[in-house]
Amino acid sequence: MSENTNFASGSRTPYGAVQGSIYPSVGQHAGASQSNTKATHDASVPPLEQMDKIPGYAAVGFDEGMFLAPPSQQPRLDEASPQQDQRPRSTFNYTPLTREQAREAIIHYAADHCCYGNNPAVKMEFTNMASTSSFHYTLETFGESRSTKWTSHPYLGEGLVVTGPPPGPWDVMVAPPVMFQKNKKKIEVPNTASVKPCHNCNGRGNKSCGFCQSSGRRKCLTCNGTGRSRMDAGPSQCMSCQGGWTKCYSCNGAGHNVCTKCEGRGNLRWYIQLTVQWTNHTDHHVIERTALPNSLITRVTGLVAFEESLPRVSPVSHFLETEINTASHALVNKHACSFPTERILMQRHVVQIVPVTEVSFTYEDMMSSFFVYGNEHKVYAPNYPEQCCCGCSVL
Ligand SMILES: [Zn+2]
Ligand SMILES: [Zn+2]
Ligand SMILES: [Zn+2]
Repeated sequence: MSENTNFASGSRTPYGAVQGSIYPSVGQHAGASQSNTKATHDASVPPLEQMDKIPGYAAVGFDEGMFLAPPSQQPRLDEASPQQDQRPRSTFNYTPLTREQAREAIIHYAADHCCYGNNPAVKMEFTNMASTSSFHYTLETFGESRSTKWTSHPYLGEGLVVTGPPPGPWDVMVAPPVMFQKNKKKIEVPNTASVKPCHNCNGRGNKSCGFCQSSGRRKCLTCNGTGRSRMDAGPSQCMSCQGGWTKCYSCNGAGHNVCTKCEGRGNLRWYIQLTVQWTNHTDHHVIERTALPNSLITRVTGLVAFEESLPRVSPVSHFLETEINTASHALVNKHACSFPTERILMQRHVVQIVPVTEVSFTYEDMMSSFFVYGNEHKVYAPNYPEQCCCGCSVL
């Protein structure tokens, strides 16, 4: 790294690597922050040409930029989906919803809606209960993406360890995360660090004060620089200044401010930062043949008829509801090519059979129905009587 340093000279500390010292952790500099930092004009980044040329990182800029395509999307042979017999269960026994459970569900439902009257839930008469099954297929693909950018911190004089060429962005070891959970990590790419004079202050550690043109003093506003106050009794000395001048409040009279970029250190430690991001992509397919909206099925649980977790799953092919097989095929294929900038770490797919019961009821002169669905006994009752909160008789 050291031979690539091409900043202008003038730094107070030697460039490049120092043997036998240790890497500081990122964020170590946070405590070095100084408070009197009112620099007038901060250059956020130096010209890109002045950054080191790191093999394998030619396109790195100062923004997070594009995600980098992983080297290969093919799973290793030993990871590939085995030729397993993925025969899901074809018989399902769950006890149908009882009238008591339906009553309890609709009473809860009315209670959850503060405006709804409780009377209908308690008094409605159930005339029919029709049980059906919904099918809910879920495919999850857990992927990892990586991007790089140049990052700097004030240089505190710590050594830089160089152990060889930097690893490629996809070769940097990153501890595996919890599967199927969104996450993000920022780490330093080893062997990319170097020390350069701060571009914002040219290595000085401070910047001249723009408010007072480095003089440290400003013309008194009270007397307009005359040094005298205009009293009726005759001119006397201005109480706010000394001879027409006051101390510059911006730099506190120093004529310069501490550089915000290097926090007064004069040098910056530059390195390539790798951002690793994990995303869980989820797709659903619901087979629901009643008037219950499909989207509601995805929010409850049912009986797990099939579940599989592998680096790459094969589509479900022997499910009793053939529409599930077709949907699984389509979604597995879609996920196989939808995330070209991600390395797929794991996939999981599940088929749940969600119980749905349509409960027909009469209440006063009204005839309608509501749905109880899922293991949670959620209720969908768009025609629930007594929904108003003002003006109606809700007791
Ligand atoms: Zn004055
Ligand atoms: Zn000033
Ligand atoms: Zn600086």
